[in-house]
Amino acid sequence: MAHCLVTGGAGFIGSHLVERLLQRGDHVRLVDDFSTGTSGNLEGVSGHERLEIRNGSITDPALLESSIQEVDVVFHLAAAVGVKLVAENPVRTIHTNIYPTELLLRLASEERLPFFLASTSEVYGKNPKATWTEEDDLQLGPTSRPRWAYGCSKAIDEFLGLAYHRQRGLPVVVGRFFNVVGPRQVGAYGMVIPRFVDQALDGGPVVVYDDGSQIRCFAHVHEVVNSILGLMDEPGAAGSVFNIGSDQPVSIRQLAERVVAKVGGEIPIEHIAYSEAYGDDFEDIQRRVPEVDKLEQAIGSKPSMTLDEILDDIIAWRRASRSGGDARAESDERV
Ligand code: UDP
Repeated sequence: MAHCLVTGGAGFIGSHLVERLLQRGDHVRLVDDFSTGTSGNLEGVSGHERLEIRNGSITDPALLESSIQEVDVVFHLAAAVGVKLVAENPVRTIHTNIYPTELLLRLASEERLPFFLASTSEVYGKNPKATWTEEDDLQLGPTSRPRWAYGCSKAIDEFLGLAYHRQRGLPVVVGRFFNVVGPRQVGAYGMVIPRFVDQALDGGPVVVYDDGSQIRCFAHVHEVVNSILGLMDEPGAAGSVFNIGSDQPVSIRQLAERVVAKVGGEIPIEHIAYSEAYGDDFEDIQRRVPEVDKLEQAIGSKPSMTLDEILDDIIAWRRASRSGGDARAESDERV
């Protein structure tokens, strides 16, 4: 029974992690500023006797210093999320993603606390390789394009984490998430599946950016949480970077067609230019497919739910929440 600190615990991935930690008997202290996280995400666990919620920003050093007291393990998930938000507010991205991580690593290194550092496939930038392994080069675009501030800020976090491992013996595990999806994810920050599902449930149109030939792999959040916990249970994972995601590629056009077929009815699919969706200085990533052999070798499993299973789960959740069957939806609509 561990005492866990989870930053970003009210967010999409964080709230699923918090649930699992409580289920396995841990104590959880959650820090979140409820900017992109919501209290609705915590509905199933609020009031839990082993959960302590601290409402505040990770950019507050005093809050971080007090929150790490008497903690055995740190899960650092708080970050500025989503390409849309990041493109709109690059200053906030840099403030949220860099300084607090450095402080948290420094505080954790004093006690050598096991530390999970959430990173992102954005760090690979536009590396043209068909699949990406952890040792591949990071190929970010120019600093004049705000999108790259996100991947770059997370790459700095990774350098910091690995430096604290090398120099201070901090047992840090870096997880690079690839397109994590599932119940509670909302479309407000640009994420494609909740947007397509809501558009389809509204009768369309489902709006694909550009020609839809972009390739992504989607992993269910429950399997991603399994991977995080598996890595933190594996002492050999400390000091390493792991891709965490599905390795089953699908094009965005195919994804739109699958969502439409599952929701059913006459739902049109439209295409719009990137400039219309994100503004003129946006660059998309054409193909994003991880190799997850390293993860599989470390923990004996990898995310393996099919896209059909994942979409069924998300559509069922969204239908229930929209019809009022799940109060969590109300807070989702707010963002
Ligand atoms: N996308 C789209 N329509 C949307 C939102 C996204 O066609 O309403 C595309 C987007 O251009 C990208 C892909 O779907 O190629 C995945 O976008 P998301 O923001 O979910 O993830 P990321 O770009 O970070 O992989």
